[in-house]
Amino acid sequence: MKFNKCSRCGCFFASADDVCPSCKSKDAIDKNTLKNFLDNSDVPLSLDNLSFKSGVDLKNINRYMETKEFSSYKKLLTNNSNLKINL
Ligand SMILES: [Zn+2]
Repeated sequence: MKFNKCSRCGCFFASADDVCPSCKSKDAIDKNTLKNFLDNSDVPLSLDNLSFKSGVDLKNINRYMETKEFSSYKKLLTNNSNLKINL
């Protein structure tokens, strides 16, 4: 079993996941919030704006955007951010 550091709370846990078991449900809620928000948004948003409007932490948004799950949502973001996006 491999130990990982949780991307949300920083605790160590034994799993191959990004986040610890107690943060996993929070991640799921944040992802749902973001998806709903982006699904209903027809104007490009910067990451800062997205974070501000959706209430999801910028650090977590960055992490989600790197996953395959969110790859199709990247086109809804503008490029003026600290995330490298190929538009
Ligand atoms: Zn955690």
